Amino acid sequence: MSQLIQHLRQNLPETQVITDDLRRLAYGTDASFYRLIPQVIAVVESENDVKTVLTAAKANNTPITFRAAGTSLSGQAISDGILALIGEGFADYALNADASQVTVGPGIVGGEVNRRLAPHGKKIGPDPASINACKIGGIAANNASGMCCGTAQNSYRTLAGLRVVLADGTLLDSEDPTSRAAFAHSHGALLDELAQMGRATRANAALAERIRHKFKIKNTTGYSLNALIDYEDPFDILTHLMIGSEGTLGFISRITYQTVVEDPCKASALVFFPDIRTACEAVIALKPQPVSAVELLDRPALHSVENKPGLPPIIRQLGEEAAALLIEVRASSSDGIADKIAAVHAAMAGIATVEPMVFSTDPATCDMYWKVRKGTFPAVGAMRRTGTTVLIEDIAFHIENLADATLDLQALLRHHGYHEAIIFGHALEGNLHFVITQDFGDSSEVDRYARFMDDVCHLVVDKYDGSLKAEHGTGRNMAPFVELEWGREAASLMRRIKQLFDPAGLLNPGVIINDNPHAHLENLKPMPAAEDIVDRCIECGFCEPLCPSHRLTLSPRQRIVSVRELARRAAAGEAAGSIGEDYAYMGLDTCAGCGLCSTACPVGIDTGDLTRRLRGRRLGDTARAVNAWTGEHFGTLANASRLGLSVGHAVSGVLGDNFLARISGGAWKKNMPHAGKAPAARTTQGDPVVYFPTCGGRIFGPSQSGDPQLGDVILELLTRAGYAPILPEGFDQLCCGQMLASKGMAEEAEGMSNTLEAALMKASQNGKYPVIMDASTCSASMQKHLAGKLKLYDFHEFAHDALLPRLLISKQAGPVALHINCSVRKNGADGKLRALLQACADEVIEPAGVTCCGFAGDRGFVVPELNQHALRKIHDDLPANCACGVSTNRTCEIGLTAETGIDYQSVAYLLEECSRPQPTC
Ligand SMILES: Cc1cc2nc3c(=O)[nH]c(=O)nc-3n(C[C@H](O)[C@H](O)[C@H](O)COP(=O)(O)OP(=O)(O)OC[C@H]3O[C@@H](n4cnc5c(N)ncnc54)[C@H](O)[C@@H]3O)c2cc1C
Ligand code: SF4
Ligand code: SF4
Repeated sequence: MSQLIQHLRQNLPETQVITDDLRRLAYGTDASFYRLIPQVIAVVESENDVKTVLTAAKANNTPITFRAAGTSLSGQAISDGILALIGEGFADYALNADASQVTVGPGIVGGEVNRRLAPHGKKIGPDPASINACKIGGIAANNASGMCCGTAQNSYRTLAGLRVVLADGTLLDSEDPTSRAAFAHSHGALLDELAQMGRATRANAALAERIRHKFKIKNTTGYSLNALIDYEDPFDILTHLMIGSEGTLGFISRITYQTVVEDPCKASALVFFPDIRTACEAVIALKPQPVSAVELLDRPALHSVENKPGLPPIIRQLGEEAAALLIEVRASSSDGIADKIAAVHAAMAGIATVEPMVFSTDPATCDMYWKVRKGTFPAVGAMRRTGTTVLIEDIAFHIENLADATLDLQALLRHHGYHEAIIFGHALEGNLHFVITQDFGDSSEVDRYARFMDDVCHLVVDKYDGSLKAEHGTGRNMAPFVELEWGREAASLMRRIKQLFDPAGLLNPGVIINDNPHAHLENLKPMPAAEDIVDRCIECGFCEPLCPSHRLTLSPRQRIVSVRELARRAAAGEAAGSIGEDYAYMGLDTCAGCGLCSTACPVGIDTGDLTRRLRGRRLGDTARAVNAWTGEHFGTLANASRLGLSVGHAVSGVLGDNFLARISGGAWKKNMPHAGKAPAARTTQGDPVVYFPTCGGRIFGPSQSGDPQLGDVILELLTRAGYAPILPEGFDQLCCGQMLASKGMAEEAEGMSNTLEAALMKASQNGKYPVIMDASTCSASMQKHLAGKLKLYDFHEFAHDALLPRLLISKQAGPVALHINCSVRKNGADGKLRALLQACADEVIEPAGVTCCGFAGDRGFVVPELNQHALRKIHDDLPANCACGVSTNRTCEIGLTAETGIDYQSVAYLLEECSRPQPTC
């Protein structure tokens, strides 16, 4: 063990020091096309941890890179030394009394901050497109921005205070006078030097003007030199230099932002122009107008999305020179919106458009426009040749140059053979993104990229004096070009700043300041073909916040990264090594297969599909035979399971739940349900409806022995609402097959689904009657299998649509906890479930920070740590007086009950209780 690792192990909890090959590779990867593998990963949960890691780095002369969410695109979040991974200990959030300022830790996701600010009509200024995945640390350290924030509302402009740990371990809290005084005492020389640098820069008229000119447009190339001319107080200079410093000057441990207003009313127009030049004329006309965003799309960008549903048909008939602007206005009222639309129309008068400009205030239409705009980058990523990387570049021009610069850029792309390239961007800010696909596995292709980048840099800098990185940060990608863009004087100022804060050069070396002219062409990430279902992955990390196993073992992105490496090794004839061994547990066993990753993935990948495929391949003949037997003899298995539960309860009655949990390796849960029972058919009058009681509810009964069985509750509800329920013939022997599908036995699962389909068809008289199932995961699986052949509802959907209107409800007093199962989320049926709950309960609590419960059918019994990890945040939001929980899947409810001690049951129980006929006097 190296001294470095020994040092870290002695000073940090064991789980925070990660050295295995699999996680060093997987956690080490970010969204850029560069690859470095850290020697060790240290998870930092507090400022003390950060100091410990800085001390270890210094003692062992090892570089250190801080990592928030790893969505960076320029190679600034990777390391071959220590990767300091920011943990949940840094997810603080505090809002001041009038919601004008929010103080947040570097480990909280930007979108989560905005969700909490939304009820106050506020948001944070910076708005990168990655905001639902990236974290405050990265947003601040990259000075990230997006479609609306421009240069006025980025982290630099909305910064109100900062806590920072410097390379020598000193902590400065700019909002605390005591901390400032102590810092002035201990680091007076540093402050003097900053103050002096500021004075000299302001006195140097040419340099000061150059800095002003460069920051008129978005710029994240190099350091925030504007701090030297905007501020005189060295504390202000220091805190503003930290913004955009990409982890090369210190660790931001807390930041206070001025919040900005989030206007509730919005309108958008997608306007087509005959050519780029006319579109850019419109941008110049719109710049002084009250518009919140203007996005430019060139013709290839429009081609990449023109078949998306809902777009005007004209988009497919536009000429090859055409371009579009997506314009958005926002206001606090609909009158305000009307005024702003009128102003836009007036400003655009006389500018040729392909069709008249029409604004929509319909949220669905506006949403669709913005989704389409955001879909352009992934669309190229999804269509790229396997083995190639999708690259997104990020440059900015002064808007008077935008038309010429865009045309020059299009010509340059064609000249270098990037015919698939698209251009889009935040036009008001002159910020263009262009997307290309690049093969880095071939040296001639790397040379082509090198020649192209040289030409781009000269075009942007020499011809237009623009920014080489507008919002994504310099990273390794633009580090060799910082001096080209800024000139020698400004570049040497940047070197002085780096030397001042990090004399040993250990903080993220190679990023921003890099003397190697080829740094942007080295350490390129391999992108081998692995499995067709994940080859389109662009490693953006958008899927991570939703994944229940993220940070327990692997996230979806990390699973794909690992599988790619295994594929690379296999193709190169190298052994899979410990990566292959560890993947069995970290990649396969602890994936819940929930598919929530697919809901955030810009290219639509469900990593659960990968897991199921690989689980299937790993199954030996014996396991396959046992599972196949299970499918064929499902009734026998169900009976055996019920018997097991009865015996379990008998034993726990004598020896206790804890004993059983211990000897079953966690599989026996506290409050384990009693054995279930299949419901008995009823003969009633009413509208026919087929009810299939799924095996979860048939095997696992209620947690309280006196409570009725789920099937009986649903039959009672249906009858009460005037339906005549029909149970499919032999239903107790049937199962949808989901259980086998999750184990990778797609064919066997299909067989079970087919048998169930036949039974449902017969019972429903070939779809004449609606069918309901009582477990969301099974309903979703059968809905997919049946592909519309009959009308199949998940119970809560039927209850919302067809039972509520027929029942008289008396709301339950007291809070009810709601867990929305992953299938309900994926199907977008969560709205109906919420509405059902609102109808039945006075107070509904939906704990934030919980996505999939991680129980995943049988995973909760096999790897209980997945369930515990997935629900680790549930306790934060559950009030002490909450005694009742509701969900829509029996096995999820078992895990939720075990973790919270609250009795979670199907929503059917609550509905039944609330709709009981009241005694009449
Ligand atoms: C598909 C896609 C779209 C994107 N769109 C945008 C966009 O519209 N606008 C935009 O600006 N960016 C965009 N990005 C880039 C990136 O998502 C953002 O810049 C984001 O803010 C990075 O945050 P992160 O949490 O992922 O940080 P990371 O990638 O983890 O880190 C970013 C940098 O910050 C440093 N760092 C992290 N935490 C700290 C800390 N506490 N103290 C000091 N240094 C720290 C790291 O060392 C690194 O240099 C996009 C990325 C992708 C993949
Ligand atoms: S699976 Fe999708 S969301 Fe996740 S990293 Fe890959 S492309 Fe991004
Ligand atoms: S299927 Fe669920 S558990 Fe598996 S990678 Fe996707 S989000 Fe994570």
